[in-house]
Amino acid sequence: MAGTEQPETRIASCPCGNVTLELAGKPIVAATCYCESCQQAGQMFDALPGAPGVVEADGGTPYLLVRKDRIAWMTGTDRIEDHRLKPDSPTRRFVATCCNAPVALEFTKGHWLSVYAGRIAEDERPPVAMRTMTKDRPAGVEFADDLPSYATHSGKFMWKLLAAWAAMGFRAPPVEKTTGWSRYAGG
Ligand SMILES: [Zn+2]
Ligand SMILES: [Zn+2]
Repeated sequence: MAGTEQPETRIASCPCGNVTLELAGKPIVAATCYCESCQQAGQMFDALPGAPGVVEADGGTPYLLVRKDRIAWMTGTDRIEDHRLKPDSPTRRFVATCCNAPVALEFTKGHWLSVYAGRIAEDERPPVAMRTMTKDRPAGVEFADDLPSYATHSGKFMWKLLAAWAAMGFRAPPVEKTTGWSRYAGG
């Protein structure tokens, strides 16, 4: 596999196409999160007029986690609004105001960006590798498949994040909403 691997590039886009974000390189992991906050925020976003919907029927929100130094806003940065569940929360979610589509979730102190999987074309979306925070899933939800499902943020999940951070030289810049940030700016 390794020898035949092609450089990967994906575009995350809001449904109307105004907001686009380039994702370069291999994603850290494709994971579906069941935590309280993702459900709460997602359901709030899903209620907005015309919103594309991000929370699945079983309460999970699928994301593609990418390194912050492998992203570049291409268009529509003036149409992105920050949403925080609490004013002092270190976690913010970027929502495209043009069509009420959640685009990505940032832990501002972290080195990765969690892009809502639905923003990526289906044929470019890597298959989900794991479920995280399933202890928060809605009552009655049982998983009938073999996908690894972890009650919290598993060691495997944290290891992937840590490995990516090491590759970034342990830097974790907050995302700036300016066109071209940060892949080209950071070198
Ligand atoms: Zn839009
Ligand atoms: Zn979550």
